Amino acid sequence: MRSITAGGLFLAGTMTPLSLALGAPARGPQKQVNTVRNPATLNNGKVTQPARELSILRSTGVLVVGGGPAGTAAALAARRLGADVTLVERYGYLGGLATGGLVLAIFPLYDKSNRQVILGVGEEMMRRLDKIKFGIIERGKAPVYPTVDAEAFKYVLAEMILESGIHPYLNCWGVDAIIDARGAVRGAVFESKSGRQAILADIVVDASGDGDIYAAAGAPFEKVIDSVGLVSRIGNVDIEDLAGENFEHQTGTRTQSKGAKPTRGMPVSALQGNVGSPTPAPHTNWLNMKGPIADALDVAEISMLELKHRQALWKNLERARKRPGAENAFMAETAPQMGVRLSRLLAGVKKLTMNEAKAGTKFKDVIGYSGDYMTPAFQIPYSCLVPAKLENLLAAGRCVSADFELADTLRLIPICWVTGQAAGVAAAISIQDKCKPRQVNVAKLQKILRQQGAYLG
Ligand SMILES: Cc1cc2nc3c(=O)[nH]c(=O)nc-3n(C[C@H](O)[C@H](O)[C@H](O)COP(=O)(O)OP(=O)(O)OC[C@H]3O[C@@H](n4cnc5c(N)ncnc54)[C@H](O)[C@@H]3O)c2cc1C
Repeated sequence: MRSITAGGLFLAGTMTPLSLALGAPARGPQKQVNTVRNPATLNNGKVTQPARELSILRSTGVLVVGGGPAGTAAALAARRLGADVTLVERYGYLGGLATGGLVLAIFPLYDKSNRQVILGVGEEMMRRLDKIKFGIIERGKAPVYPTVDAEAFKYVLAEMILESGIHPYLNCWGVDAIIDARGAVRGAVFESKSGRQAILADIVVDASGDGDIYAAAGAPFEKVIDSVGLVSRIGNVDIEDLAGENFEHQTGTRTQSKGAKPTRGMPVSALQGNVGSPTPAPHTNWLNMKGPIADALDVAEISMLELKHRQALWKNLERARKRPGAENAFMAETAPQMGVRLSRLLAGVKKLTMNEAKAGTKFKDVIGYSGDYMTPAFQIPYSCLVPAKLENLLAAGRCVSADFELADTLRLIPICWVTGQAAGVAAAISIQDKCKPRQVNVAKLQKILRQQGAYLG
């Protein structure tokens, strides 16, 4: 029973605020001891951060850093094996580039015979979207690929994580790795409104897209520089277009463009009144953007580019309004986060290459397939998620171990689901079997992935 009076919710028949009755902290001033000690100091022009003890936010089995396609798939897959899972995301929503980056097209999903070869956790997410009005379009119509609604997808992911028993922390930025005396990863350090805190873990899955945690832990990686765009949604349009190479690698249809050569880098001003292609929201398109080549790890460069992109998107809208069918178009949304394609690629036990993909190389430790796209659908081995030289950590998503050419395919959303799910299962097995991720029993990993609905051929 509750009643509402001006000023808040009260327990019925009492003047006890509902928040107190529920054990929530009282509103109003609270006595607080300032716990910020040992700030950085400036001495002789040098800034130093003194050593300090960090509070431990949580101890967990599997710590997944990054809540994008790879991270959410990893966390759910590990949790389903009974692992204690903590998922940490730097923004206030889940989905990574697939939601906050407004990357709404889910491809490639199919092989050359139009059979869907990416299933598992990603397929479950899409099935949930199927049930939501305006959640997803073009489902099961290979070779046309699905397009999702970012808000519906955020909702689905929130629902899946909330019902899973995973411990989530949002608005929490992974800033360092925790290493033990033998150099093995034992967790990560996070910065949030609660300050700088540590999360201890048996296994860390780096699904940050940029390999932030494995880089901090000292794992060798290759830094790569690729085009960085900013995606937007345009409302109130009745036309559509694709601007060829302005977009991903599409060639003018909404099907998977086979064998299209990737072009890397387009000027900021490349959009010429483009309106993009339809989304599940009525009369609303998403406008993919290639963008110039930029160093996604250089804060000055990426900040300047983001502002220029926002400026260019507005100019593009003004041009678009001169086109019949888009006269009253409005900017529904510019993506809250920049469209970073690639930044760091792990030096893994195995570096998967474009030549191997083209040759249809088979791997004993296969954990899934890509769809048919730049090459025929190819196998993905577990060993490209395992660092060559670091223990207790796995990579998933767009920062796994591959050559630059193939990474351009491995970074696509469905394939990030595949590597994410495999990393989550492997992390859970590693804990169950008390072994290092590189020692995981591959037959067991493959069996469990199949049980979880993944396609391994
Ligand atoms: C412009 C553009 C167009 C694209 N077009 C397509 C397309 O049409 N189809 C397709 O399938 N794919 C497309 N992609 C690729 C795809 O969107 C991404 O590669 C994919 O989302 C990568 O998934 P991920 O989980 O590896 O990384 P991300 O989606 O980048 O997710 C990483 C998550 O980690 C979080 N994070 C990062 N660092 C930290 C940290 N230090 N601490 C805590 N959290 C952190 C991020 O906030 C994010 O949520 C496109 C990409 C871009 C940029």
